[in-house]
Amino acid sequence: MSYNESSHSFVGNCVYYHSIYEWKQKKRGFFMESNQNETKQDEINQDKINQEKKKREIIVIGAGMAGLLIAYYLKKQGKDVLVLEANAVASGQTGRTTAKITSQHALKYHKLMQSMDVKKAMLYARANEEAIAEYERLIREEKIECRFKRVPAYLYTSQNPGLLKQEAEAASLLGIDAFFTTETELPFEVTGAVCFRNQAQFSPMEFVKYIAAKLEIMEHTKVIRIRGNRLITESGEFLAEKIIMATHYPIRNVPGFYFMREHQERSCVLELASCDKTVGSYPLEGMYYGIDSDGLSFRQAGENLLLGGGSYRTGENEYGGTYEKLVQAAKQYFPECKEVSRWSAQDCMPHDGIPFIGRFSVFTPNLYVATGFQKWGMTTSMVAAMLLRDMICGIENPYAKLFAPQRFLIRAATGNFLKDVGMSVKGLVKGFFHKKAPRCAHMGCELVWNPDEQSYDCPCHGSRYDADGKLLDNPSVHDLQRKKCDSQH
Ligand SMILES: Cc1cc2nc3c(=O)[nH]c(=O)nc-3n(C[C@H](O)[C@H](O)[C@H](O)COP(=O)(O)OP(=O)(O)OC[C@H]3O[C@@H](n4cnc5c(N)ncnc54)[C@H](O)[C@@H]3O)c2cc1C
Repeated sequence: MSYNESSHSFVGNCVYYHSIYEWKQKKRGFFMESNQNETKQDEINQDKINQEKKKREIIVIGAGMAGLLIAYYLKKQGKDVLVLEANAVASGQTGRTTAKITSQHALKYHKLMQSMDVKKAMLYARANEEAIAEYERLIREEKIECRFKRVPAYLYTSQNPGLLKQEAEAASLLGIDAFFTTETELPFEVTGAVCFRNQAQFSPMEFVKYIAAKLEIMEHTKVIRIRGNRLITESGEFLAEKIIMATHYPIRNVPGFYFMREHQERSCVLELASCDKTVGSYPLEGMYYGIDSDGLSFRQAGENLLLGGGSYRTGENEYGGTYEKLVQAAKQYFPECKEVSRWSAQDCMPHDGIPFIGRFSVFTPNLYVATGFQKWGMTTSMVAAMLLRDMICGIENPYAKLFAPQRFLIRAATGNFLKDVGMSVKGLVKGFFHKKAPRCAHMGCELVWNPDEQSYDCPCHGSRYDADGKLLDNPSVHDLQRKKCDSQH
């Protein structure tokens, strides 16, 4: 601004200055002050923008299969949705799944009919069958390249086939296209199998990549606490009218008390190449799951085979050897095979055998949850997405009551509920008395060293930490203090 140009505004004031120098000094001061004011205003505006950026109609916590599908379907309804992810997209269990998309959830339907009733068992079957159909519709409509393929799913046994005959009958009664057989493609004899026709498999990572690209996701943003409609993260606070916890295991303890209602179980997978094509019928067309205590899971993934098994409650593998059992089985059934990779994962096992999808608790009307997928989270994540979309958009959903976390199915739940509470009490007592042992940052239970995974695992609720105490799996949201790990393994 030149003097002349400025005269209009400053001339009147000049008479009060004793010298041009003083005036110049004042003028500089004025500009400095006004620059500072502008800077302050800019900062305030930026803060406001940042606040606005952190304010959303809906925030979904967790970018696994459940969180991504929930966010995707809500966004399709025109909702303003943000996903907060502690690490990277699909870095949790979804990145380690074997991705069978099926309503065949181990031995399920006969048990549900016994412990609940035919109506509830039928709703469970329908919800999962509809989820398979919805994957197919979505993948076709959006032309998602993820190697989706309709294939049959089998449960098999090498022992008494009675349970599988019952399961085939129950599933058929509930409307699933199922039958009992003794014919499979497996490289060993079975005494019985149940086939569900028209199930599916896909490449979960290719699918997830497509869905994630449609969403606004903040990676490396761990939510530490949820207070009302505030989400406290390591990089500041976020606000949302509605919050959905799709963190696999809920990270908030009260008032939902999920820590008394589900535990976690792990299992391992080997990816095998060059499997012997002379045994059984290879490559496999169907997907297989063994119901015996040493049962294995088989699923073709392109040229390679995924061989799964060695299931155990998280925190109960202090002697290790789970991968070895799988390696032995691989050598026995596919002598020519080569191990390409190995990994393990875990999932939440709800006490009554039904996932928890819906309002977190009656006291938190704007907080929702999706958990307890029992190692069948491909279909149940889709069920969660449909159900929560409908709940939030005020649409009636036929499955809402069945999956409602507020249900209490006494017959189905009591045994596991008491066992889970017992495990928690045992872990807490041990944690209290063994002061030098590493204790979980979640509730203080004593941790157990897992030699197969080189991790500290919590037998109560399934949080896991690496050898340096860095958090691997929730419900804990904190690392361990380093000194707690030093004296162990
Ligand atoms: C060995 C194995 C094989 C399986 N195979 C099958 C199968 O064939 N078919 C099937 O249907 N299911 C299968 N499952 C189950 C399935 O993989 C899971 O149920 C599913 O992946 C769970 O998805 P999710 O979104 O709930 O959890 P996750 O994929 O674990 O996603 C949760 C996300 O939340 C994030 N998160 C956690 N805490 C926070 C926080 N505080 N702040 C921000 N983000 C957070 C995590 O980083 C993670 O990315 C299998 C499970 C196992 C263990």
